[in-house]
Amino acid sequence: MKRTNDGTPRRIVVISTGGTIASRWQGTGYAADASGDDVLATAPLPEGVTVEVTDLFNVNSSRMTAAHQLALLRTVHETLADPGVDGIVVTHGTDTLEETAFLLDLHHTDARPVVLTGAQRPFGTGDGDGPGNLYDALQVAASVRDLGVLVVFDGRVHAARGTVKTQTLAADAFSDPSTERLGRVGFSRVDIERQPERPAPLPFPRAARTAAPGTAPAVPLPRVDIVTHHSDGDPVLLEAALAAGARGIVLVATGAGNATPEIVRAVAGAVSRGVLVAVTTRVPAGPLAEIYTGGGAVDLVAAGALLTGTLRAGQARVAVLSALLADEDTAGGGDPARRTALLRRLLDGPVRAEPALATGGSRSASAVATRA
Ligand code: ASP
Repeated sequence: MKRTNDGTPRRIVVISTGGTIASRWQGTGYAADASGDDVLATAPLPEGVTVEVTDLFNVNSSRMTAAHQLALLRTVHETLADPGVDGIVVTHGTDTLEETAFLLDLHHTDARPVVLTGAQRPFGTGDGDGPGNLYDALQVAASVRDLGVLVVFDGRVHAARGTVKTQTLAADAFSDPSTERLGRVGFSRVDIERQPERPAPLPFPRAARTAAPGTAPAVPLPRVDIVTHHSDGDPVLLEAALAAGARGIVLVATGAGNATPEIVRAVAGAVSRGVLVAVTTRVPAGPLAEIYTGGGAVDLVAAGALLTGTLRAGQARVAVLSALLADEDTAGGGDPARRTALLRRLLDGPVRAEPALATGGSRSASAVATRA
């Protein structure tokens, strides 16, 4: 049974944001509309856990904006300001869950966990996976520390970083195709098998103090676009993104990070104008690598683009956005060299046991096997 040291129950706050876990039939299709209390009422509570609900917003996550995500970051921050809270569960649509989880993780400085979960089957159906996922997420949130932001789905515990939605409909919606899951949950046990790799966290962004979903943010948020390369690909869409005011571009290249000489020229032009360019790949698993010239990753890096390691497009975009926001918040902000250095740190920056991580915990201390 989960108890704090003085024997009181674990206090978990559930922040409800919508998604299939809150979606009901609307006559023509499903859409999020159930309240956080209604969603919570579908799941049994793990023993020794008390729950409070915050209804933040109610959207299907393909409609998620940076303003929603920053409002959630602020709510997480405010919730953890209460030392009596032991952890947070965020219910979220699965479509963009990996982006929100990563944004939270890049700014997470607290030992207490934030656990995102959701469902592949809608609210209130007999065969839904939402109640089980929510139960598991509560169990994990009440059991672990020093692991950053997590994704709990279908009995698996994933680190925020690297995790992507890899199944459109199946219950095991998430995985990191480049590495192992972090752990498992089930049969009243939470087993954490490895330590997540996390860069030193970024400071709380100024934009998150004012972001409110559905309203124009008080601080204008930088535009960051994703452009995909393919056979016949040319720089037209990349140039269109720049013309639309993009301050960051994620190029989804082929293979280990390759495109064409024409795209390399467009990237060089963008970088010379202070645009951050990150290169990821449309291949599901494995790292980016500087192997090829003639438009390949060797040339893209020489043009000033950064390779994203094993991060894929959605999370690479979140890294670029976060680096831009952090640069703007720094005195004398707007320095291309500093934002490039910030992005580099977020992309290849897993740092273990660095004091600034504020997550404490050696591998052995964090690798808990907790009986619930
Ligand atoms: N379209 C839904 C959403 O992302 C899918 C889900 O939640 O599973 O909100």
